[in-house]
Amino acid sequence: MAKIDNQPTHPLSMDRLPTRYLNAVLIDDFATTHLGDFLLHPDGTFSQSNGDEDVESTIDGTNRLITRSFQNWHTHLPMQLNARDFSDGLALSDWLAKSIFPTEMRLTPEIAAIGAAAAAAEMCKTGSSFANDMYHFPGAIAPVLESAGLRAIVCGPQTQWPPQEGGDNGEVKRELERLLAKNSPSNLVQYGVATHAIYTCDQEVLLSGRDLAQKYDTTLHIHVSETRKEVADSFEATGLYPVEYLDSIDYFIPEKTVCAHGSWVKKSEMRIMAANQAILAHCPSSNMKLACGGTASLPAYLEAGVDVRLGTDGAASSGSGLDMAHEARMACLVQRHDHWDASALTAANAFKMATKDSKDWAVWNLNDIKMSPRGRANNRHISNLIYNGAQCLDLWVEGQAIRQNGQTLTLDEPAIINELNQAVETYYEGIE
Ligand SMILES: [Zn+2]
Repeated sequence: MAKIDNQPTHPLSMDRLPTRYLNAVLIDDFATTHLGDFLLHPDGTFSQSNGDEDVESTIDGTNRLITRSFQNWHTHLPMQLNARDFSDGLALSDWLAKSIFPTEMRLTPEIAAIGAAAAAAEMCKTGSSFANDMYHFPGAIAPVLESAGLRAIVCGPQTQWPPQEGGDNGEVKRELERLLAKNSPSNLVQYGVATHAIYTCDQEVLLSGRDLAQKYDTTLHIHVSETRKEVADSFEATGLYPVEYLDSIDYFIPEKTVCAHGSWVKKSEMRIMAANQAILAHCPSSNMKLACGGTASLPAYLEAGVDVRLGTDGAASSGSGLDMAHEARMACLVQRHDHWDASALTAANAFKMATKDSKDWAVWNLNDIKMSPRGRANNRHISNLIYNGAQCLDLWVEGQAIRQNGQTLTLDEPAIINELNQAVETYYEGIE
């Protein structure tokens, strides 16, 4: 059980009634399949329906599969602004230096909000109800997610590099503090603190970020050991591997730190992460697209006792957007490939990892050819969903219908598509 609570119960949800699905298939937190009539309660629980309860609405669940929604533990949501093939063919260091950082120098709160809206729309369309984000202008991103009815931890930087966020480091930090002070346990969207990586943040910045996260009892989010170069540079500069270095400066906040990637990590570093109850966000698509040459070694992490989740990274990093079913498939493939072991990560375990701690519901179209055959005992739904993807019909967060019948209700998707296409005309003009 994660100690980072991304599932607060909003007081408003208590006023809502449950929703009834008739004749549906429901897969619960333990991957047990249930058939029949169900109530989805605003507090995230479910029960069998007798047919006589007061409900918000009754939905014909024939050909619908109800599962927990996906939870995305590492994103840069406004990077939807960057096309999937943005600077395709560059490795991470060139990709950051030649494309991402120069582009981000042009970022404004307005453009970040447009990118975040596009991301929120894609999350809804692919059955995700939560993102742990890291990006500039958190104050522009969080309201977009709030109005979409989604959950998130929006981690903002506390320095101005890159890009210029309108002032010196002091001003950027004061703005983040102002946002952090708004955190309340009942908010679906929380603010957290991002310290990008040890190669972009010096010790003073890392510890200042830690202090801020500690002061506001919130999430501390960092990229760790994404490439061999990062590890080699760390060892040359400090004599320590990245996780050892972070531990040596007392960076970790127990139960509150999220480390993205963790691809080039020794077993002793995994034990440091476990001792600090850090969450590892495994991002296989990003690692492979950016030719990082390694991905998190799942069996070793699990043996060390680390809480491993999945993340998509930014849209341009992974090339696969925010589709967590796709990411879970990638995790299955790369873990088996790397370990020469077909049991290294099953579809069922990848699904559990991708939905861990979710209190929300995604409803999938069983009439989709991609979800057939279903299996004689309805036993193929999860593997169909993970290996083949499926159409998300409905998405529920605390009893609110975020999406119904394949339409997102809380966002104007056609308008977002227009705004996104207009924004990128100027945003990455002149960049390959
Ligand atoms: Zn990232």
